Amino acid sequence: MRIIFKGGSAWSAGLGVFEGLAIEDGHIQAVGPEALKMTGEVIDLDGGFLLPGFIDGHAHPIFAGREAQGPKVNNLQSVEAIKEEVARFAKANPNESWIIGGAYEAAIISGGDFDAHWLDEVVSDRPVVLHAVDHHTIWVNSKALEIAGITAKTKDPDGGTIARRDDGSPKGTLREPIAFDLILKHATADSIKSDLQAIKYAMRQMNLAGITSSTECWVETPMAEAYIEAAKTGELTVDMNLAFLVTPQNWQDQIAQIQELRAQISELPKSSHLKANTIKFLTDGALSSGTAALNEPYLDNPESSGLLIWDDDNLLDAAASFDMLEFQLHIHAIGDAAIKQSLNTVEAVQRINPGWDRRPVIVHAQLIDSQDLQRFSQLGVIANFQPLWCYLDPMNKELIEPRIGSARNNRQYQLRTLLDLETKISFGSDWPVTSHKPLEALQVPVLRKLPNNNGEAWNISEAITIEESLTAYTAGSAYQLFREKEVGALEIGMRANLVILDKSPFEAKNLQIVALWRDGEEIKVS
Ligand SMILES: [Zn+2]
Repeated sequence: MRIIFKGGSAWSAGLGVFEGLAIEDGHIQAVGPEALKMTGEVIDLDGGFLLPGFIDGHAHPIFAGREAQGPKVNNLQSVEAIKEEVARFAKANPNESWIIGGAYEAAIISGGDFDAHWLDEVVSDRPVVLHAVDHHTIWVNSKALEIAGITAKTKDPDGGTIARRDDGSPKGTLREPIAFDLILKHATADSIKSDLQAIKYAMRQMNLAGITSSTECWVETPMAEAYIEAAKTGELTVDMNLAFLVTPQNWQDQIAQIQELRAQISELPKSSHLKANTIKFLTDGALSSGTAALNEPYLDNPESSGLLIWDDDNLLDAAASFDMLEFQLHIHAIGDAAIKQSLNTVEAVQRINPGWDRRPVIVHAQLIDSQDLQRFSQLGVIANFQPLWCYLDPMNKELIEPRIGSARNNRQYQLRTLLDLETKISFGSDWPVTSHKPLEALQVPVLRKLPNNNGEAWNISEAITIEESLTAYTAGSAYQLFREKEVGALEIGMRANLVILDKSPFEAKNLQIVALWRDGEEIKVS
């Protein structure tokens, strides 16, 4: 059956603003005057505005779902408050065999070593695992340590640490995935079940925000297995691409399993729209914590220029190996030294390996050496930015500026410069680090401040237009996901993934999502 959208404007990258869209059998059949002439069921936009469904090029939906369904410890400012919440959750969920939640603020304890005994005071009969906001750290109770058999005799795994008491016994805080795997592998059956719940929750939240395609950019066991389950049971109301996290210590051991999971996923019915084509590399930390890798030292700690997580040769070996298997590289790089290392790696991979349509991504790309700006487009590297981060928020002002000085601070997020250099730009939310809602973020790189703020714009010369912002959150991310021929624009033959807003994003603030369509079917959002 044909459906015709009229009575309001529409916009698509490549087409600009127009009126009239016809869809049939889940695909776009006609655009503009052609569509208005057709007959079929009419959907009246009622003065609203039609866009392609939003596409999130960098997000962590399972983390968001885990945080939402476990104890709600986000933003709690004391250990007492966290304990109270864990106790409440345990009482309300007597049948949960593992209590897994997040994300607690590690900075409330100096040094960030949380004690298992604190959690034991509220739950001692079942294992408790809380993730920290950085998602590189967990805090567990004694039951969890006991189940995992972690004692004073347990050695730190390569690339991870177990915080210890003076006698060498484990304190209750473990750092890096390889370390918390020691515990979480015992929760596997349970964590597939709970990750499935997390996926369902995240799908719903993303749909409510107008998102029809997204990414899972930090995949560890058993997250891919949970996605395969979700795809089989038709839960994926958002197209997903999985990016497997590999580490300097373990990438070689991970190759076989990652290939196996990609193969399993490629055999799923096409209608599941699940892909797993990407490898995630973390090359540095964050500016706010002094762990982003810089060319010049931090001002508050002149001994330190931050930390490169990979050495050059190992990163190149890993990147070239996965590139050879036609995995896309998705590289987290924030500081100018990490971005340079990432660009060098991509350049070397392209020199060593045979050519293919690789579309490497550098995500965050906050502080770029001026000599490297041009290299993004030269090397075909996509810059994935978080639009909601492109203003002088308290973190940039109070945490980052004192560490790196105003000159470097103000050079962050050079979207205008990169676009003028013909760089491909895509957007991602980094949810749950920040909001997943595109409507909260689209105006920020345009105004270089929050839309409802009367204050000054931040480095306005790097501002982009609203059209460029919409493009990055639709066609730009579709290109990053190798889906630009099926989604991200309103062109004939593409999938009918549509979002309807109450007003024009070109004129109004405080926009609302009115309706969402995916493959020609409406997903209820109210
Ligand atoms: Zn992220």
